[in-house]
Amino acid sequence: MHPLPELLGLEFKTIHAMVTIYCHAFHQKNQLCSECQAFLSYANDKLDRCPYGQNKPTCNRCPIHCYKPEQLALAKKIMRYAGPRMILKHPILALRHLRAEKKTPPTKIPIKASNRHLRNINKIEKLKQ
Ligand SMILES: [Zn+2]
Repeated sequence: MHPLPELLGLEFKTIHAMVTIYCHAFHQKNQLCSECQAFLSYANDKLDRCPYGQNKPTCNRCPIHCYKPEQLALAKKIMRYAGPRMILKHPILALRHLRAEKKTPPTKIPIKASNRHLRNINKIEKLKQ
């Protein structure tokens, strides 16, 4: 899993919380099952590669749709169950997300703004020093 700063980090925290609610209800109690862990690392990778980077719209309003059909179906299942339960369990994350849903997505896809790109640039800069 990649460390995700700022907005992307909050998005990941939100997904993590939702997957946890879902997995505990349907799979296992103490820790995430391997299927949910795999999904979470898929989501982490997608956030890392999101071309909007720190200006990412909510996935719901995003024009790109970067998830593959199988993971998208699972994401929808998780959101449907965990979404309404987030308000009680994680009110601050839930409210932040609801507020973000109202924001219109950026009209242009920025170039080289993904976290992955910026991370790689930082690596190169460090090598140069
Ligand atoms: Zn699970």
